[in-house]
Amino acid sequence: MSTKMDFTGKTAIVTGGSTGLGKAIAEELGKSGAHVVIASRNEKNLFSAKEDLKSKGIEATTIQTDVRHPEQVEAMVAQTIERYGRIDMLVNNAAGNFAVPSEELTVNGWNAVVGIVLNGTWYCTSAVGKVMLEQKHGAILNIIATYAWAGAPGVVHSAAAKAGVLAMTRTLAVEWGHRGIRVNAFAPGPMITEAASKNLLFDNADAKQKVIDRIPARRFAELDEMAKIAGFLLSDQAAYINGDVLTADGGACLGRGFMDLMANSQSLRANK
Ligand code: NAP
Repeated sequence: MSTKMDFTGKTAIVTGGSTGLGKAIAEELGKSGAHVVIASRNEKNLFSAKEDLKSKGIEATTIQTDVRHPEQVEAMVAQTIERYGRIDMLVNNAAGNFAVPSEELTVNGWNAVVGIVLNGTWYCTSAVGKVMLEQKHGAILNIIATYAWAGAPGVVHSAAAKAGVLAMTRTLAVEWGHRGIRVNAFAPGPMITEAASKNLLFDNADAKQKVIDRIPARRFAELDEMAKIAGFLLSDQAAYINGDVLTADGGACLGRGFMDLMANSQSLRANK
């Protein structure tokens, strides 16, 4: 089997593909030959992503879509089929997030994040899944975060929604796995994107350094290295990976217990 990713002739939908990680994934898939459809809301960002990809030799199709509205998702999927005749890959990357103490989270704030992340992922998966079931072929990748299972103070809305997406991933992997569809999740580590800087407060050197100090790899994740991992999970090289979640966070979600304190404790050493 070739170790080079080749998506020639395949069609991929990337939600939230006009910025950040989604854009890097769109570029990675496009570079490897896929027809890429980017589905997100902001017209200006869609336009500049299309232009940027074009300058790199990638002809992406952009379809203005709010994944919170099932009828817009259905229309985006219909347009994709009309244009390319098939859908081989779906990347559920669209998300919204903001840090807030849970006791201050409003109903609107909860609904906004859960609506995009959990409901939006389901609307896209449901609409594209029907096409893939007909084709008896397809790969779905859900972008989550390690707090889907570890939890994280300040983002209860996003953690709960991503945990729901992980449960969706595992459920559909079993339900659709024998019908030619793989469903996996990918949990990237902290990345410096405009959204993360603004909403999750990586917005100054001091805050960034504090985050870096908590990452065993002592750096943020690069967008293109994360995009390559997403590409691998969607590719035929990952044909036997189904219902799994791959974490690439430089070890950030590990070692959050108290054993390091004990290991360094003077009193423990004194009692030896
Ligand atoms: P980002 O640049 O804000 O990407 C999110 C994208 O989702 C945007 O392009 C946004 O475009 C789109 N989107 C938001 N609401 C939408 C809606 N209702 N319908 C359609 N599209 C919508 O953020 P990012 O940092 O690249 O994050 C990408 C993914 O990685 C997310 O799933 C995030 O949870 C995950 N992640 C990020 C980090 C990190 O540190 N950055 C860490 C772990 C996981 P519009 O506003 O134009 O619609």
